Amino acid sequence: MTLNQVQFAVLGQLFHTPVKGDFQYLPKALVCIDSQGNILSVTTAGDGQFETNIQQLDQAGKLTRLTDSQYLMPGMVDLHVHAPQWPQAGKGLDLPLYDWLQDYTFPLEAKFADNNFATPMYQAAVSTLLANGTTSAVYFATIHNQASLTLAKTCLALGQRGFVGKINMDDASQCPDYYVEKTAQGLADTEQFIQDVLALPGNEQRLVSPVVTPRFVPSCTREMLEGLGQLTAKYSCHVQTHCSESDWARDYSLEHYGKSDVAIYQEMGLLTRRTILAHSIFLSDEDCRAIKQAGASIAHCPLSNMYFANAAMKTREILDQDLHAGLGTDISGAPVPSVFHTCLDAVNHSRVREDGTNTQLAASQRGESGSRISFLEAYWMATVGGGLAIDTKVGLFTPGYAFDALIIDTCAPDSDIFIIDQLDTPRDKLEKIITLNRRSNVRKVWIQGKQVVNKDC
Ligand SMILES: [Zn+2]
Repeated sequence: MTLNQVQFAVLGQLFHTPVKGDFQYLPKALVCIDSQGNILSVTTAGDGQFETNIQQLDQAGKLTRLTDSQYLMPGMVDLHVHAPQWPQAGKGLDLPLYDWLQDYTFPLEAKFADNNFATPMYQAAVSTLLANGTTSAVYFATIHNQASLTLAKTCLALGQRGFVGKINMDDASQCPDYYVEKTAQGLADTEQFIQDVLALPGNEQRLVSPVVTPRFVPSCTREMLEGLGQLTAKYSCHVQTHCSESDWARDYSLEHYGKSDVAIYQEMGLLTRRTILAHSIFLSDEDCRAIKQAGASIAHCPLSNMYFANAAMKTREILDQDLHAGLGTDISGAPVPSVFHTCLDAVNHSRVREDGTNTQLAASQRGESGSRISFLEAYWMATVGGGLAIDTKVGLFTPGYAFDALIIDTCAPDSDIFIIDQLDTPRDKLEKIITLNRRSNVRKVWIQGKQVVNKDC
């Protein structure tokens, strides 16, 4: 490494999770970033030239030093966000899914036909996620091309790694008459949207990517799903959709196609290495095999599953089978815009499943023993697992990976994270950060080496 290759460097303690279920803590690491925003090197005391490099970088004005209460951590990956639903986050979550969709969600999403309405809403959604440490987000937009492109432009302008999908929903028997598209027009719009995102000025490094986005099986006709499969192949696009989210969704697919959601997506060319299946509650063994074979990924959305899924997620089994899996906030099927909080929700979700809820049953029959997951596994999903799902080198401090990173300060103003050096091991500290992190603790955010949030200036 020569000084000229280094755009800037960060010196301090860091956490990350190279191995699922484990973590690495480096008390004093020097992370050097190149001119493309990728990690050039990660060195520690004892590596040759360590102190000399620090001195030279400092003299060149290229060094950021962390304080003792600051930790360098990978940026968080949110695999499932409905950006247009941010304005209704927190509303109606005590309703059944059908009522919540009809009374709140569809009327709100329909308003995005007006780009003037959409613009400030998307600005608020993206900047809120960034301030909470979300460096990559996989977004559902709406059926409207112009507003969906506005979301892509907003990600680009604010510097967030965005995966943006114009939604497809063309089955008139399943969609509200005020929020539905015609099949041929919807497909033409989708191809135009893909081309427009790829051609956005400033997107040469592909910070923002288009995503083929059938809302879910019931909202689309067979022709639509087939056409979207062809577009996926033509443009090597990412794909996102809802998969086996509820009893109703699962039964709809079985009744109309005689097969599961996963099998339908596979048949239509929509199950690929770059496919993200939100929820995926009711998976059969065959579904899991197909997902693993395709290298597709699951977006576990633990809090919204508690509201709408009718059952508990088999997170333990999915991790044990080594399926690609990350976490999603599922705004606004859940209201909290922080993937740190989603880690806590994922652990809570698995513990309720393990213990069960029916007090009339004996403890041995009440839950599903051995189904809990650890905080380290949840955090791995939020970082490394998310990176695998978006097929992008993020989530680790490793040479060649993009520098998508956060500075978490446990002594930030109004912090709830109380670290006690005599009592807390590095693992204790990491668990406290995961569970108690708030927006105010996220002091700086870099994406592809570019600083996009700086609360200390
Ligand atoms: Zn969703």
